Amino acid sequence: MTAVDPGQVMLMRRCRRLAFAAAVCISGLVVPPGRAQEAPTKTAEQEEAERISDLVLANHILADQGIVDGFGHVSVRSARNPGHYFISRSRAPALVTADDIMEFDLDDQPIDARGRAPYLERFIHSEIYKARPDVQSVIHTHSPAVIPFGVSDVPLRPVSHMAGFLLTQVPVFEIRSVGGTETDMLIRNKALGAALARTLGNATVALMRGHGDVVVGQSIRTAVAHAIYTELNARLEAEALRMGGKITYLNEAEAAKTGQQLDQLVDRPWEIWKIQALSHTQKN
Ligand code: MN
Repeated sequence: MTAVDPGQVMLMRRCRRLAFAAAVCISGLVVPPGRAQEAPTKTAEQEEAERISDLVLANHILADQGIVDGFGHVSVRSARNPGHYFISRSRAPALVTADDIMEFDLDDQPIDARGRAPYLERFIHSEIYKARPDVQSVIHTHSPAVIPFGVSDVPLRPVSHMAGFLLTQVPVFEIRSVGGTETDMLIRNKALGAALARTLGNATVALMRGHGDVVVGQSIRTAVAHAIYTELNARLEAEALRMGGKITYLNEAEAAKTGQQLDQLVDRPWEIWKIQALSHTQKN
């Protein structure tokens, strides 16, 4: 990205928080008073190109950080059309390139499939975008350290100030409650996706019993940070539990405040995650 003045950066961040209004805001149709004479803001086309570029990088970063392996996927809502989203074709995240990125509507119909096979569990993404206009990015992982918290009655709660977005407790999706006792555990259809979205509610993370988690963000970078710090918090909480003493979790106010800070500071870790992921990709 070329040099951008701080005011413009702040404007962009404000735009991203405006959910469905984001595309309109970014395209410059909504200009705060006193800013009309400043340099033109990014067009929706430029924002879309950045989202797709970040989406490819997000795939590599999540793989490099051990959050996804051959499975797991990340998507981003379209800046031009909030009723569409972008996601890779069915492929290991570490190998994803721009050519693999497909566009879907919220009924999971591909816009131009060109013979590419979609992920089986894409309903996770469409149903969350439908239920949560504030969400700009969705990640589904089999993040290893979260699994114990999905299968036991020990709740995943924030022990690290980097994971305040977990708030007081993370909800757990039980597929048996909607799919019966003989599913293959996968979110194979809209009904299961919608049930998962209901479990997520207004939260940032929901665990999926015996499977993994789903993580959202108000930008793709924030969603990636949420996925990485959820895994870290799960490891730290398990370690604290093994010590056997009394655990003091972040309280509601601490969790809320630290959660908001991460959204504002996310470009800092993103920069190093990106460098690490690219350096590992180039070695292979
Ligand atoms: Mn899965």
